[in-house]
Amino acid sequence: MKANIVLLPGDGIGPEVVSEAVRVLDVIAQKYGHAFEFTKRLMGGCSIDAQGSSLTDETLKACQQSDAVLLGAVGGPKWDDPKAKDRPERGLLALRKGLQVSANLRPVKVHPALIDASPLKPEKLQGVDIIVVRELTGGLYFGAKKREVVDGHDTAIDTLEYHDYEVQRVVELAFQLAATRRKKVTSVDKANVLESSRLWRQVATSIGKEHGDFTLEHMLVDTASMRLMTSPASFDVLVTENMFGDILTDEASVLAGSMGMLPSASLGSGGPGLYEPIHGSAPDIAGKGIANPIGTILSAALLLRYSLKLGREAQAIEKAVEAVITDGCRTADLGGTLPTTVMTDEILKRLA
Ligand code: NAD
Repeated sequence: MKANIVLLPGDGIGPEVVSEAVRVLDVIAQKYGHAFEFTKRLMGGCSIDAQGSSLTDETLKACQQSDAVLLGAVGGPKWDDPKAKDRPERGLLALRKGLQVSANLRPVKVHPALIDASPLKPEKLQGVDIIVVRELTGGLYFGAKKREVVDGHDTAIDTLEYHDYEVQRVVELAFQLAATRRKKVTSVDKANVLESSRLWRQVATSIGKEHGDFTLEHMLVDTASMRLMTSPASFDVLVTENMFGDILTDEASVLAGSMGMLPSASLGSGGPGLYEPIHGSAPDIAGKGIANPIGTILSAALLLRYSLKLGREAQAIEKAVEAVITDGCRTADLGGTLPTTVMTDEILKRLA
C-alpha cells in the first residue's frame, strides 16, 4: 500500500523520538511491501521561531491532505510567556480542530515486566488493559471564554457546552472499540452536578440500549479517578468529556510505569488521524539522546492500525516492543541505561 504520512516532530525530544518511529515504519514498509512517503513540517515552538506561527496554513493543509499525521511533542520554557501572541499549544488545538479529530484514544496496558516501575502495588496492576476515549473538540476547552469586571471584581468565565451529536459519536466509538475487547464501557461524567453531564449520560444510556450484550456503567468522575488507582483492572473502555479525559488519561498513564511508554491516536470521521505519544517535549532531557522512543513507536503502530488498516503490521510492532521489555531492555526513565537509538535497534532486531 502507498501512504503519505506528514511528520510534525515539534520541540524538545519530539524530533528525537519521531525519527525512531520513522526507522520502524521504514522496516515495516520494506518487510510487508508498502511505500510510505514522509513529509516533514514544522509545528509548535520551532514553527513560531522559523515561520512566525505555531501552525501555518500550509502545514495544516498538508496534514489535511495526508493519510495520517505523526506528531512528536510541542512546547518548552522558551515559549512559556502567557502573554505571548502565539503559543505552541495553540498550534496543537488548531491542528486537532482542523483535522476534526473528535476523539482521543489512549491505550494503557501494564507489561508484566514493568509492574515494579509503577508506584502502585503489583497485585493491583495484574491484568490492567484499558482504552481511555477522550472527547477532543468540545466541552470546557472549546466553549466560549470571557474575562470581564463584574461588580468591581475581575471575573473569568469558561463554558462547558455539548451537543448530543458530539457525545453520540465519541460514545459510539467507545462501543466499537469495546466490541473487539471485553464489551464493557464505563461512561464517566459529573451528572449529579452538571447539566452537560446529564445530557452525556442520557445519550450514553440510549446508545447502550442498542448494545444489549455489552455492559455499560456510568461513573462519576471523582469515583473514576479513585477507581483508576484502587481497581484499574476493572476498566475496559472508559469514555469521557474533554477536560475529565485530559486529567484521567494522565492519571492512568502512571499505571504503565513511565509516560515514555504510552501512545495515543486522535480520530475523526474519516479524515487523517493524528498520532502522538502522550508525553510532552521533556526539555529536561532534550538533546541528550536518552528519551524513551516506545510511546512514539507504539503511536506509529496505532497509525498503521486505524488510518492505514494494517492491523497485522501494527501487531508486529507491538509484539516487538513487548519482546524488548520482556528481554530487559530499559531506557533511563525505566531505570536502565539504553540510549534512544539503541532501544530502537533492539526493537528492529525483533521485528526482523
Ligand atoms: P513532559 O511529558 O514533557 O515531561 C514530564 C517528565 O517525564 C519529565 O521528567 C520528562 O523527562 C519525562 N519524560 C517525558 N517523556 C519521556 C520520554 N519519552 N522518555 C523519557 N522520559 C520522558 O511534561 P512537562 O515537563 O510537564 O512538559 C514539558 C513541555 O511539554 C511543556 O512545554 C508542555 O506544555 C509540553 N507538553 C506538550 C504536550 C504535547 O505536545 N502533546 C503534552 C504535554 C506537555
